[in-house]
Amino acid sequence: MIIDAHTHIFPEKIAQKSIQTLEQLGGETAVIGGTVQDLICSMKKSGVDKSIVLPVLTKPEQFSKINQFAVGINKLPEIISFAGIHPHCENINKLLDIIAEMGFKGVKLHPDYQNTDITDERYIEILYGCKKRGLIATIHAGLDPASPNHIHCTPQMSYDVVNELTPKGSKPFIVLAHLGGADCLNDVERLLVGLPVFFDTSFVLEKTEPARMREIIRSHGYKNILFATDSPWRDAKQYIEIIKSLSLNDIELNAILGNNCAELLCI
Ligand SMILES: [Zn+2]
Repeated sequence: MIIDAHTHIFPEKIAQKSIQTLEQLGGETAVIGGTVQDLICSMKKSGVDKSIVLPVLTKPEQFSKINQFAVGINKLPEIISFAGIHPHCENINKLLDIIAEMGFKGVKLHPDYQNTDITDERYIEILYGCKKRGLIATIHAGLDPASPNHIHCTPQMSYDVVNELTPKGSKPFIVLAHLGGADCLNDVERLLVGLPVFFDTSFVLEKTEPARMREIIRSHGYKNILFATDSPWRDAKQYIEIIKSLSLNDIELNAILGNNCAELLCI
């Protein structure tokens, strides 16, 4: 089974406009359209069985609308959408109860789009709340074009957060996107490799030397690496080919492509 642990989609009405806005903001071109049908079509072409969709709340008041949409797409067998939550939301614990009751398996946090450092006490409250409720927390890590002058989740910040939430020996539930920070891999290797935290491979595979990628996978532990693309910004077929070309053994390969994620999602 192949699971893409990091994708984005938008409601049909705003998909095209949202993609255009993000293309202008980030200087990246989407490789597919932005609707759930576009994602499912691309999954079929590339052999991806399930995709985790990660909704991002840029304002606290988007909580209900975005999560209602997310619940709707969760009815599709190919889709596992996480919930969105914003650190400036009031009653964080009540909202996390709602998220758990709605059947979500995890939440997405985007410190750059939410203009808050991941070490902020409100994020820490969210993360403790996730841990208590068995929710996965996927966090955007490293540079984002939306906030070029201040990274709100640096490897040092991730180090502090991971050590507080999942001290050595505990079961990881935090996923750091982009391998912990695509543009700061030296710091990732120095600070984060080997800690009880998942790395996803979104938006980083084609930028990283295969030997370095293999080294990070093996030093961090292949069990804590999740295959991910960041679709619609990266192509699943190309990303699967890159992973397959890293000369990993079959156990490592199958774990990264889907088994680790299936285990984490309990599916
Ligand atoms: Zn993303």
